[in-house]
Amino acid sequence: MQGGKYAVYFELSEELQAIRKVARDFAVNEIGPTVAEDDRAHRFRRDLVEKMADLGFLGCPIPEEYGGNGMGFLAATIIAEEIARVHSSMRLPFNMNTNGPALTLLKFGTEEQRKKYVPGLVSGKILGCFAITEPNTGSDVASMRTTAIRDGDRYVLNGSKMWISNAQVADVALVYAYTDPSQRVKGMSAFIIETNTPGFMATPIEDKLGTWAAPCGEITFENCRIPLDALIGKEGDGFKICMSQLDDTRLGCAAGGLGVAQASLDAAIEYANQREQFGQPVGRFQMIQDLIAQMVVEVEAARLLVYRAAWMRDQGMSCTREISIGKYAAGEAANKCADMAMKVLGAYGYSEEYPVARYYRDAKSYQIVEGTSQIQKIIIAQDALGYRKANRS
Ligand SMILES: Cc1cc2nc3c(=O)[nH]c(=O)nc-3n(C[C@H](O)[C@H](O)[C@H](O)COP(=O)(O)OP(=O)(O)OC[C@H]3O[C@@H](n4cnc5c(N)ncnc54)[C@H](O)[C@@H]3O)c2cc1C
Repeated sequence: MQGGKYAVYFELSEELQAIRKVARDFAVNEIGPTVAEDDRAHRFRRDLVEKMADLGFLGCPIPEEYGGNGMGFLAATIIAEEIARVHSSMRLPFNMNTNGPALTLLKFGTEEQRKKYVPGLVSGKILGCFAITEPNTGSDVASMRTTAIRDGDRYVLNGSKMWISNAQVADVALVYAYTDPSQRVKGMSAFIIETNTPGFMATPIEDKLGTWAAPCGEITFENCRIPLDALIGKEGDGFKICMSQLDDTRLGCAAGGLGVAQASLDAAIEYANQREQFGQPVGRFQMIQDLIAQMVVEVEAARLLVYRAAWMRDQGMSCTREISIGKYAAGEAANKCADMAMKVLGAYGYSEEYPVARYYRDAKSYQIVEGTSQIQKIIIAQDALGYRKANRS
């Protein structure tokens, strides 16, 4: 039997284990010391984004010719998980720079667009965002109302986008809008837009439940005139591009949920071994052990599902379904584990003195962003029932 006492059926390569160690050390030593303070101050740490970029964290799924390192999606997933384990807000750049704009340009952009933006996004020299959601458009992406109507050598954008992470700090935005509203999804197009273009206005959304150190805002387009070469792919490709982007950004999000779930478990174990009641550590009580056991299973099951999806993405396999399964599992695990950690810590969980209150707040977004848990379940169930094939080739 291999692997000592128990057979080892799944193990990360030495390279991936080393990557995990680098990411963990960075998260603990660079993000950790000020995490509580940064979060409370709603402080966006651009300097830390640049440091992560310097270490190659934002370049894993990007080939070297565009400034990346080609280490792949599983490496990126492991790194994002470790970052979110210390501060969920710091996980956002993986999606806002890499999995959103950079990968979309790599897949669908022109060589000029790739060369112009991808190296900057990977190096953290520029910040990105992606804008799908609108005040009246969430899960039903096709119902968006923003238009980009061609006028001579320009597209003219009008409309507004809501809940856009990085809106007020981004240098470039991946934006979806209708070039031909009469065609429904066939009239949707995707654009890469420089945020200093006149008519592009971003307003921060200050009051949100969690991820306090991650900027989020509303974008308004008022006769925002952009060049024709801002179009990604062809007119009418927008919906297809958006669905493809969501696969990749969902995977980044799944890694974040996993990090928060693990952090909750870590905090619960530490506290259960330290807090004494009735003359013994509370970890000795079976009801606390029940919570710990549930958390361990949640975390480990989610991790295997998320890593499987990332691994499939690295193999170039179609994996929309597996990404949805991983995102759903990790989003739910984050919430269940943060809730159980709160129970283990009792009143101290409710206090800002311990990080569990932050995990509890931050976990919630993983059930909402990049398609809610319900939307992931629809994808999974409709595939299982044979109503539609989830995986795109
Ligand atoms: C912190 C944060 C950051 C975000 N960042 C971004 C970003 O960077 N870019 C971006 O474009 N968007 C972003 N979003 C928006 C996010 O993607 C949307 O909130 C999400 O897609 C859900 O849309 P909604 O909130 O409008 O909910 P709705 O779609 O209005 O849904 C409301 C409820 O109805 C359910 N529901 C909807 N349709 C169905 C259905 N067919 N069957 C069953 N149930 C259904 C939903 O699951 C949900 O429970 C962000 C949101 C948050 C909270």
